[in-house]
Amino acid sequence: MGTEHRPSATYHVYRGPDRAHALEFLRGTPVMEPHVYVIVETPQGNLGRDLIYVFEESDGRPVEFGARTRLENPASSDTHCAWCGFYVVPFAVPREAAAASTLSVYLTMDEAREKGHGLRCHHCALLQCVFCADFAASGDGGTEPHCRACGRMLKELVKVRGS
Ligand SMILES: [Zn+2]
Ligand SMILES: [Zn+2]
Repeated sequence: MGTEHRPSATYHVYRGPDRAHALEFLRGTPVMEPHVYVIVETPQGNLGRDLIYVFEESDGRPVEFGARTRLENPASSDTHCAWCGFYVVPFAVPREAAAASTLSVYLTMDEAREKGHGLRCHHCALLQCVFCADFAASGDGGTEPHCRACGRMLKELVKVRGS
């Protein structure tokens, strides 16, 4: 139906016959940049997709994570995942903690997925989103993300300074 540019976001709006078609369309329409929304209007309600989720447009409730497919050729970037090309949302250090000289922040992988964060490999410098980081079981029953390129463990979230 059209594309609407608003100051804060861009909306691509389509019309579909029903929810099943809308969902199928959205699964095959990756949104790789922040502040971009694909909306499909149907007589059974509207579905949308953003950088992270396929969601119900009426209340924003997530339906599922938006599928991320692998690029044919991984591309090194400071802002986007090398493997899927999706924008990696920088991790902002909370203001009240920013004054501390050392800081450890622990996020679960679920939290990192919900926010679209990523990890950077210290060895090969590749940025990779948490959806693309490989997970291998560690000794304590948890999982640790590993670099897809070199297999080393990824520990550092991508941070923004001075926020
Ligand atoms: Zn990725
Ligand atoms: Zn690596």
